Amino acid sequence: MAQATMKRPAPPAIRQTKLLINNQWVDPVEGGSFDTYNPATGQVIAKVAAASAKDVDKAVQAARKALESSPWKTMDAADRGRLLYKLADLVEKEADELARMESLNAGKTINDSLADMQGVVNTLRYYAGWADKIEGRTVPVRGNFLSYTLRQPVGVVGQIIPWNFPLLMLAWKWGPALACGNTVVLKPAEQTPLTALRLGELAIEAGFPPGVVNILNGMGETTGAALVAHPDVDKIAFTGHVDTAKIIQKAAADTLKRVTFELGGKSPNVIFADADMEQAVAGAFHAIYFHGGQCCTAGSRLFVEDKIHQEFVERLAERAKERKIGDPLDPQTEQGPQVSKEQMDKILHYCDLGQKEGATLMTGGHRFGDKGFFVEPTIFDNVKDDMAIAKDEIFGPVVSVLPFKKVEEVIDRANRTYYGLAAAVWTRDIDKAHLFAREVKAGTVWVNCYHVVDATTPFGGFKMSGQGRENGEAALEHYTEIKTVTIKLK
Ligand code: ADP
Repeated sequence: MAQATMKRPAPPAIRQTKLLINNQWVDPVEGGSFDTYNPATGQVIAKVAAASAKDVDKAVQAARKALESSPWKTMDAADRGRLLYKLADLVEKEADELARMESLNAGKTINDSLADMQGVVNTLRYYAGWADKIEGRTVPVRGNFLSYTLRQPVGVVGQIIPWNFPLLMLAWKWGPALACGNTVVLKPAEQTPLTALRLGELAIEAGFPPGVVNILNGMGETTGAALVAHPDVDKIAFTGHVDTAKIIQKAAADTLKRVTFELGGKSPNVIFADADMEQAVAGAFHAIYFHGGQCCTAGSRLFVEDKIHQEFVERLAERAKERKIGDPLDPQTEQGPQVSKEQMDKILHYCDLGQKEGATLMTGGHRFGDKGFFVEPTIFDNVKDDMAIAKDEIFGPVVSVLPFKKVEEVIDRANRTYYGLAAAVWTRDIDKAHLFAREVKAGTVWVNCYHVVDATTPFGGFKMSGQGRENGEAALEHYTEIKTVTIKLK
């Protein structure tokens, strides 16, 4: 593992740290704040306003008012689309600066942040196009009646997002919600509050009316919980940890609000001996180490057919040792820091545990350097299915290699997890590929590729990896209520 060294672009200026309620930047009623960090150095970069339940109530009231009155309520659907196109244009224009801010606050490499910004633009444009294409149906009802359906907004939506793709998750939430005419109160993750605030400024500039988008930073247990509990919030869209989703689902039961969840994974990545070795090694590497493994779809269970197992693991380890780790703002850097000390400590705990459980540590297993929250790319070989490192989502650059012999065996083992977010298979045999794709219990299956996620394709989890789908047309279903209108005919 090498330290990256090229010249880095300057860090961006931090302009906004307040709460956005009703298109105004305000201080919290009770004056709360929290520090946000640069994970590459561990230093505080800004103090950010923290919303209490009182601020949540103000934001929800603003969102309710916007939902039920002009101009948002009566706006032509095509004009909602135009606002989303405008926001996409503003993000595109400012992509470099937004990417730098994302890298500064989230520790993403600048190249990954730039790719995220393209994803944000694509997502906003994709849903802008949907705004005037959300249609009901006429229904061939029995009797002398005309029945038709209307697709109407769910209402005020609380959106709670994580720190690993801060702006992309915002776009996945705002795009479909706004295309369908909802109003939103967004709570970014406490680790990464900054880029969402800039998007709030751009949303005002784009022309979204007051109250349509509101942004409240703060802690999950306070700001997030108040949003979930609020009786005037109609739906919660959440991306984060499975344990948090359980808390949210229980709390949402009191008001029976709708919930959609995009949660974690322990995704199986299956390499058959007939795969293109070079591509499969590169693919398995990308599957686990993209964004330092801080990805809900990370290919963290790497099943390798026993005939090629040894060579495959050796080639993977060679690459891991060459990975350039360092300053995320340096364009040469391939892996930045983990997002926080808490995450780094959790990953290092699993590195110890894997050794205690008897897995073979091929490379990595330690902190990288002594400043910031960096972890070496880590490979455990000869992992058994029942080891904690094969079962738990580590959310870091740690892969468990599990040798296998037969296709039926690997499908069965791949499915032995309570997660079901993503899976991949590498083979030149079309029958094996189709069999795996059909039988694996996962919301996304990749064949001879990995981490291909697009605004156009439904994304979400089977089993405990989620409820509902984001992206594609599928997301619209979760942001509209269907109303049946029946008219007696003469
Ligand atoms: P992670 O462990 O990856 O940080 P979390 O599920 O804790 O994932 O965080 C994802 C988002 O959920 C963050 O915005 C966080 O503040 C929020 N959150 C955490 N706990 C709660 C809670 N009890 N109620 C609502 N939101 C929460």
